[in-house]
Amino acid sequence: MRKPLVAGNWKMNNPTESPRTLLQNILHSAHMLDSILSSSENALPIDIALFPPSVYLREAQEVLSGSRLQWGTQNVSAYDEGPYTGEISASMIKGFGCHYVLIGHSERRCLYEKLELDQYVLDQIVAEKYAQAINNDLTPIICIGETEDDYESGKTEEVIARLLDILIAHKGPKALANVVLAYEPVWAIGSGKSATPEWAQSVHSFMRQRIAKHDQASSESVRIIYGGSVKAHNAAAIFCQADVDGGLIGGASLDAEEFIQICFGA
Ligand code: PGA
Repeated sequence: MRKPLVAGNWKMNNPTESPRTLLQNILHSAHMLDSILSSSENALPIDIALFPPSVYLREAQEVLSGSRLQWGTQNVSAYDEGPYTGEISASMIKGFGCHYVLIGHSERRCLYEKLELDQYVLDQIVAEKYAQAINNDLTPIICIGETEDDYESGKTEEVIARLLDILIAHKGPKALANVVLAYEPVWAIGSGKSATPEWAQSVHSFMRQRIAKHDQASSESVRIIYGGSVKAHNAAAIFCQADVDGGLIGGASLDAEEFIQICFGA
């Protein structure tokens, strides 16, 4: 049984209230969800994780420590330490009590695209970050998804297979058992055009089958979440698909009430 995960990626947005207040409001609403969904002492039936900008990690740690909510960063360096201005290493992230790191979000890939690095090189960087996360006992949430052009030219599976194969080559198929993959079609992110539940299911199922070719057990335990315009009104239909294990939520994670309603869908 895979435990669903709902992750809130604040990106570089300033919440309407202060970051501390938003963290407190989400925690408060999650407690209510917990008491509704779980009987007595049972653990939350889902995992919930928040990804504020890194300058608010201290607040996240102060507000969320001791609760069942977890937190993480939106990026991690591919290097251990050294002269890498602006980067944050996996061990530094771990020092803030983080459990997860987001890796390879398409909004970060775009920054590199301006440097005209090709996607294969970017996938290699994602794999190096993945290795840093694993080596530092952080759970990576690795984003994978096709652009609108890829989608229209039928290249979705090719794009996804390329990254999965690189991840497997880097750390072996068994390491994938404990990671989270986030299928995030680039055309669905922030556009209001979510993938249909059927489309999400077919891509998630393809991902699981690709991993199963190498290791059946990993393919069954890897959590695959969906991201791209998930809102309170469409979350449940997407999350109830057999191979969808929750969601990565952008815009809607800045509203405590809507975010927790989305969690209900999982
Ligand atoms: P969105 O973002 O929910 O605002 O579409 C999702 C994401 O970027 O992870």
